[in-house]
Amino acid sequence: MKRRTLLQSFAALTVLPLIPACSRSQVIGEASSPIIPLNKPNKEWRDLVSPRAYQILFEEATERPESSNLVYEEREGTFVCAACYLPLFESAHKYESWTGWPSFTQPIAGHIATKLDFKMIWPRTEYHCAHCRGHQGHLFSDGPPPRGERWCNNGIALRFVLKEEELPALRT
Ligand SMILES: [Zn+2]
Repeated sequence: MKRRTLLQSFAALTVLPLIPACSRSQVIGEASSPIIPLNKPNKEWRDLVSPRAYQILFEEATERPESSNLVYEEREGTFVCAACYLPLFESAHKYESWTGWPSFTQPIAGHIATKLDFKMIWPRTEYHCAHCRGHQGHLFSDGPPPRGERWCNNGIALRFVLKEEELPALRT
């Protein structure tokens, strides 16, 4: 009986990628996001960000751990999307996850959208900028209390703006 349950669970896992929910995108933090998504073709971002940032933001690549200085950024400020400059995370919600990627306990409400991706065998929650749709990272459930969330971000997909500095104008 136990064996059958195990086999059934495995069968359920193998059909999971076929569930259409994998393409559903959901904005986090608010029922309706105040952010209007841009309809800018990906190729137009090529001239605005570095080649490596383009791979991460618009081809969903992942940077090597420890490769971004933002892992060690501890000053007060705001982390904005490296492509369109939408503020995505506040420094108050950054924490040391010891993974080698900048990690946060929560994003700025309404500024991030998620979808499930099946690049690995198991489904993962991918998240991206709600404005330009640039890929930022993945959300995991092993973060610190009370929310238990770990927003694991590519450093190159972010730009840090010190609290004393003015936020850059949103790109359109
Ligand atoms: Zn963006």
